[in-house]
Amino acid sequence: MKMLKDKISQEGIVLSETVLKVDSFLNHQMDPVLMMEMGKEFARRFADQNITKVLTIESSGIAPALTTALALQVPLVFARKQKSLTLTEDLIVEKVHSFTKQTTNDVTVSRKYLSPDDHVLVIDDFLAVGEASFGLARIAEQVGATVAGIGIVIEKSFQPGRGNLVEAGYRVESLARIKSLHNGQVQFVEE
Ligand code: 5GP
Repeated sequence: MKMLKDKISQEGIVLSETVLKVDSFLNHQMDPVLMMEMGKEFARRFADQNITKVLTIESSGIAPALTTALALQVPLVFARKQKSLTLTEDLIVEKVHSFTKQTTNDVTVSRKYLSPDDHVLVIDDFLAVGEASFGLARIAEQVGATVAGIGIVIEKSFQPGRGNLVEAGYRVESLARIKSLHNGQVQFVEE
C-alpha cells in the first residue's frame, strides 16, 4: 500500500537491525486518514471471506482493527493484556510473548464476544515472529470460531512470522512488507 510505505519512508525511525519505530503515525500519535485507508484496504482484501468479527490486541492494533471493522460493518473485539476487574465473565486466556517488551502476558477475551459461528479476521500492527497473531488465532479457535485470515499493517519479512503463520495454514495479508532494516534504511519487498 503506497500511502503507508511513503509514510514509513518519511517518518519511520530504524532503532536497530530488527526494530522500526513508527510512533508518529501508528504506535503513539495516530494518523486517522491513513488509518481509514488501511481499514478499507484490509476490508477489500478479505471481502470474499464472510468476516463476522475483527479481533486484535490492545493497544496499537485497535485503531487499524476499528477502521477495518467499520469498513466490513462488523464488530471489533480487542484482547486485553491486563486482567480487568470488570471482566468477570468466562474468559478465554492465551499466553503471548512480546517481541519488543520481552515479557509474556496472559491475554484475555470474554467468551461472550466470540462464537463458533464466527469468521474472524485477526489484525495487528506489526508482524515479527508471529506470537501475537498466533495467540489471537488460538483465542478464536478455543471457542471453535474460524480464523479467516490475518491482516498485518507492517510485516518484517526478514523475520519468521509470515513463514510460521502460512505454514500453520493461515492466509496473511500485509499492507507493507519490509525486506531489511540494514544500515538504518528501510527496504521494502518488491511486489
Ligand atoms: P510478534 O508477536 O509477531 O513477534 O511481534 C508483533 C508484536 O510486537 C506487535 O504487536 C508489535 O506490538 C510488536 N513489534 C514487533 N516488532 C516491532 C517493531 O519493529 N516495531 C514496533 N513498533 N513494534 C513491533
